Amino acid sequence: MKKILAFDIGGTKIAYAVTDENGNFANDVVKVTTPKTSEGIYEFFKTVVKGLEDEVDGVSIATAGAVNNENTRIISHVGNLPEGYNGLDFMSLTDKPLLLENDANSAAWAEYKLGAAKGTRHAVVLTLGTGVGSGIIVDGRLLKGKSGAAGEMHVRFDSGEHRKCTCGLWDCLETYVSGNALTTDARLYMREDMTSYDVIRGLKDGNPKAREAFDHWQSCLENTLVLMGNIFDPEVIVLSGSMAQFVEYEKINKQANHDILTRPFELKQAVFENNAGMIGAALLLAERLRQEERP
Ligand SMILES: [Zn+2]
Repeated sequence: MKKILAFDIGGTKIAYAVTDENGNFANDVVKVTTPKTSEGIYEFFKTVVKGLEDEVDGVSIATAGAVNNENTRIISHVGNLPEGYNGLDFMSLTDKPLLLENDANSAAWAEYKLGAAKGTRHAVVLTLGTGVGSGIIVDGRLLKGKSGAAGEMHVRFDSGEHRKCTCGLWDCLETYVSGNALTTDARLYMREDMTSYDVIRGLKDGNPKAREAFDHWQSCLENTLVLMGNIFDPEVIVLSGSMAQFVEYEKINKQANHDILTRPFELKQAVFENNAGMIGAALLLAERLRQEERP
């Protein structure tokens, strides 16, 4: 049984653990605060890899940012990580095989192989966290596109200059469908000092303003589901990330499937929570190692 040292790096936390080739953790997941500089991040990776590389067959890293088709480097800006991070030479961390993949793609692969999309051939996994990401499975393969960046959920969603996105666009999809978007709706529909947490709490208390804010956010999510449903014609759309737990699945599934032109898809909540990125990237590397072994 092969072993993989799997990392998941985001703007606030880095998580790592050793997994087997089926994505099972061999030990507890370790979580640390992401270092403030790109040099600090590199040194952290180097130290952990050095300590564990003799025990494993390879290293996988699920990361924010778009990753090239060779899975060796980041090819986009990564707004929530320090400057210079996207230029790091990940391949110099170890002589063992190393695979880098976008975190939303990695999470999608975990859901496809072992989670809510298991048994399908066509699936879309939307990650609704601070931002919005997606991983798209077409005929059993992860859609990467010509450069590796396929699945970026950034497009102008409204005209005007209401909401500025981390990608630089005004009124981008992410500013209407992410966790931060619900905070924007909270301020708009409730009060200036309100956040997404107040909306969720207000919903439970029957606050009509919270209901308005939430309905606006959820209708933007529904539009996104219709878009992905029409373009990719998936069997299932899986919602993951911190906001996925708040979605009214039955209601929005019905509405979105009423509005699409293709055959209905199933809307599901992700099975894996925070560890999906680590598991997915480890599974992708395990698959590559198996392919390389074949005569
Ligand atoms: Zn954007």
